[in-house]
Amino acid sequence: MIGRFKYDNEIFFGEVRGDRVIVDRGLYSDTFMLPDLQLLPPAQPSKIICVGLNYRDHAQELGMPVPDEPVLFLKPPSAVIGSFGRIVYPLISSRVDYEGELAVVIGKRCKNIRASEAGSVIMGYTCFNDVTARDIQKKDGQWTRSKSFDTFAPVGPYIADPALEVSELSIKTRVNGELRQDSNTSNLIFDVPYLIEFISGVMTLERGDIISTGTPSGIGELSVGDEVEVEIENVGILKNTVVSQD
Ligand code: MG
Repeated sequence: MIGRFKYDNEIFFGEVRGDRVIVDRGLYSDTFMLPDLQLLPPAQPSKIICVGLNYRDHAQELGMPVPDEPVLFLKPPSAVIGSFGRIVYPLISSRVDYEGELAVVIGKRCKNIRASEAGSVIMGYTCFNDVTARDIQKKDGQWTRSKSFDTFAPVGPYIADPALEVSELSIKTRVNGELRQDSNTSNLIFDVPYLIEFISGVMTLERGDIISTGTPSGIGELSVGDEVEVEIENVGILKNTVVSQD
């Protein structure tokens, strides 16, 4: 697992091993204790590309047909927070939802990547919460405002190895410890290699860009004071609390 950290005004990546963080300095390495470091979001994307309706169980839940091709939308980089960051509940919304998702972090600038070569551009995998003001999504008829509030893109805690096999991983979302989403990435309609081919055929992907692969069934509401966790097997647990805007 690779994390991004801050200590004494220095920001760096380090390898997380248990409660230790190993920082490669070239000729030597430094070891920190995890609790001594401030955890930052593991990536600084130029854009976050999200996929709507990409789980069979979620399509069933909504009574919608399985789509022929992925529906894409963007979230702005200004919405990113890390694990333990606070989701700010906007004053102008009265319905804010979690959406637990598996995310891919892109490792290098790329364009027109074939699915069979997708592995070569993946830095690794992480957890993502596609926080959504559902009432505003319905009112606007498109998704930009509802998905773009500051703090609506929790990501982390770390980046898991790109060699991780992600086609059959448990994915769960809990609110205040209560299980709300419980699915498996085997229910994905469009898998990660397909998505990288599809998306990189449209836009140049930059190092650090995030592709979030969509949410399974069981989406639901958050309230101020809630603690929400997205847990993906062998990837990690992304934990955030919800606070009021003022
Ligand atoms: Mg989503």
